[in-house]
Amino acid sequence: MAEVLIIEDDDRIRPLLVRGLRECGHTVTSAPTGMAGLQLAVDSSPDLVVLDLGLPDVDGTQVLSMLRAVSAVPVIIASARADDPSLVGALDSGADDYVVKPFTSAQLDARVRAVLRRVQSGRQRPTTLTVGGLALDLAGRRVHLDGTEVELTPREFDLLAHLAERPGEVVTKRDLLVEVWRQPWAGRTRPSTCTCRGCAASSARRQPSRAT
Ligand code: CA
Repeated sequence: MAEVLIIEDDDRIRPLLVRGLRECGHTVTSAPTGMAGLQLAVDSSPDLVVLDLGLPDVDGTQVLSMLRAVSAVPVIIASARADDPSLVGALDSGADDYVVKPFTSAQLDARVRAVLRRVQSGRQRPTTLTVGGLALDLAGRRVHLDGTEVELTPREFDLLAHLAERPGEVVTKRDLLVEVWRQPWAGRTRPSTCTCRGCAASSARRQPSRAT
């Protein structure tokens, strides 16, 4: 079970969320404002934050941005806002999940456990990856192709590692922009295309011709 911080200004909802998650076995603290929640997040280092967007002092999206500047703590947005811009904006700003009010304690608990599982599996990331003749040293950020080291730019390495971790999977341009470039998705496609070509060119420069 986890230590969860709930940032929620509604005096009726906050105690219900606290009690619900406690009954699911979590240790729960709470704050009624964005700034109090930020302070508590920094002071107590919770395992996960449940964050409302409509807060009286600072909007939840700003709280999320300020929190992301100092912490990688998983954040679940819990908001009545169900529109796409709010949802997409929050996820692109670093939220790990988004649940629309009203929801039950069991649903929130399931989200908490799912996010924490994802975080935990991410922390267990392997230090090396091998895909065909390609060997990536993730810790040392070095790449070998059929035993020959390939020089890549930092971005090219991040892109190659992202793809190598997902062999056989379809990876969308949106995923690449958000996960590799760490930028909000705005329908742009050109950066990933350029870097994919760069990776291919770097590999080709160091790969003997296989033409027969
Ligand atoms: Ca609110």
